[in-house]
Amino acid sequence: RSIGRFSTAVLHEEPITPPVEVKYTKLLINGEFVDSASGKTFPTLDPRTEEVIAHVAEADAEDVNRAVFAARKAFDEGPWPRMTAYERARIILRFADLVEKHSDELAALETWDNGKPYEQAAKDELPLFVRLFHYYAGWADKIHGLTVPGDGPYHMQVLHEPIGVAGQIIPWNFPLIMFAWKVGPALACGNTIVLKTAEQTPLTALYVAKLFQEAGLPPGVLNVVSGFGPTAGAALASHMDVDKIAFTGSTATGKIVNGLAANSNLKPVTLELGGKSPFIVFEDADVDEAVELAHGALFFNQGQCCCAGSRTFVHEKVYDEFVEKAKARALRRTVGDPFNKDVEQGPQIDTEQFEKVLRYIRYGIESHAKLECGGDRIGSKGYFIQPTVFSDVKDDMVIAQEEIFGPVQSILKFRDHDDVIRRANNTRYGLAAGIFTKSLDTANTVTRALRAGTVWVNCFDVFDAAIPFGGYKMSGIGREKGVYSLHNYLEVKAVVTPLKNPAWL
Ligand code: NAD
Repeated sequence: RSIGRFSTAVLHEEPITPPVEVKYTKLLINGEFVDSASGKTFPTLDPRTEEVIAHVAEADAEDVNRAVFAARKAFDEGPWPRMTAYERARIILRFADLVEKHSDELAALETWDNGKPYEQAAKDELPLFVRLFHYYAGWADKIHGLTVPGDGPYHMQVLHEPIGVAGQIIPWNFPLIMFAWKVGPALACGNTIVLKTAEQTPLTALYVAKLFQEAGLPPGVLNVVSGFGPTAGAALASHMDVDKIAFTGSTATGKIVNGLAANSNLKPVTLELGGKSPFIVFEDADVDEAVELAHGALFFNQGQCCCAGSRTFVHEKVYDEFVEKAKARALRRTVGDPFNKDVEQGPQIDTEQFEKVLRYIRYGIESHAKLECGGDRIGSKGYFIQPTVFSDVKDDMVIAQEEIFGPVQSILKFRDHDDVIRRANNTRYGLAAGIFTKSLDTANTVTRALRAGTVWVNCFDVFDAAIPFGGYKMSGIGREKGVYSLHNYLEVKAVVTPLKNPAWL
């Protein structure tokens, strides 16, 4: 049916019944599912219908205390840091096998709780989740320190030891993938964990945490608490018995978490925060290919990606053609029930994000960016938003500066290399960038000039387990994935021992 300027909504009269049941809704502490100390619960909603999926136990400071106590005990006295690295790897691999076996159910649960297309969850995210744990299991017995030569007769070793109890706070946009990025390296290094999920999407982490117990993870090694940021999240970040905090979410909350960590026990912090990533189309680009890639770079996951290509810079020579085609592509985007396999875009996560995206669309219109298509909600129930394209966007407009986190593409015109490099870098963020060109020289020059943690050349959103991800500037501190993620979860100990009559130094 046709709605305003947008014609490809495939909303159903009745939502499709998710092919999965909710089994786990309590807190996982010390290997057992338990109610919160207060007995409180909170509802997690279906973003398609705004109806309650389930009531979930709500952790506050007291539950976080219990979870940290369990993790502390498991680290200080339990078998996990003391078993061989190979045994740890075997447990992680068994877990990955179990996830593979339950992939369909997990993908359905992820779609139900988050609103992302089932096809994306099942075909991309679950396989990547399994791959990430295979990758980290592979690291477990290859983490080692060094022996270094010194100036005198001393045996000088550098030991790499687990850091201890890791506190991890994750967002709602990729609940399972964020779980893997955080839990994988922490476990491979022999740490114990208290993980706080996002209040919008608590369900899949509880499910996979149960599978970890089945795989043989000792009790207390991985504790999962559902709850809100200012209560459970803040209690974790400021806990004196937590040795490290890893956080993904907004830059504003990242600052709070960093402050809480600093003002308690000065625990080290890694932050993966927001972005306003440029996607740059040069004049030699194949326009059709560039349009498709730029479209995916922004609209993937309902636009709810920290690295979304949210400033589409297009060279003036191909600008008009690009804008026409980008608009046509957005108009063809299918929006609707994410369980329908023809749907490319589901609902936004919740009413807060939905309202926020619509507010940014209004800012765009008020600042006289040209609304090419979209601009409104779809239907009267659920958080569906029309794929929206603005052209003639200027650098000083709010929609070109702030993270929208929704299906809103902003297209800006540029003149030459110097112009676009300067403008692409003119942001407090520095998470990612995409460039689209046939020229190797352009690719090499621009790649090095951009201040961003990832630069995709003629591709976008390629997330390999082995490649680091993280931000320059206010997009974060530290890197996740790849070998770099292990450094976040290791302490370094220098050991110096005198050598008596050594044959050599
Ligand atoms: P948020 O940063 O507030 O939430 C992320 C996580 O932090 C959640 O688990 C939340 O419970 C927790 N949290 C919130 N306040 C906290 C506190 N005081 N102490 C400790 N933990 C706390 O993000 P949000 O409110 O869900 O979304 C707001 C904006 O953040 C979005 O519009 C988007 O711009 C951005 N965001 C970015 C990412 C990303 O991947 N970088 C993910 C989600 C949201």
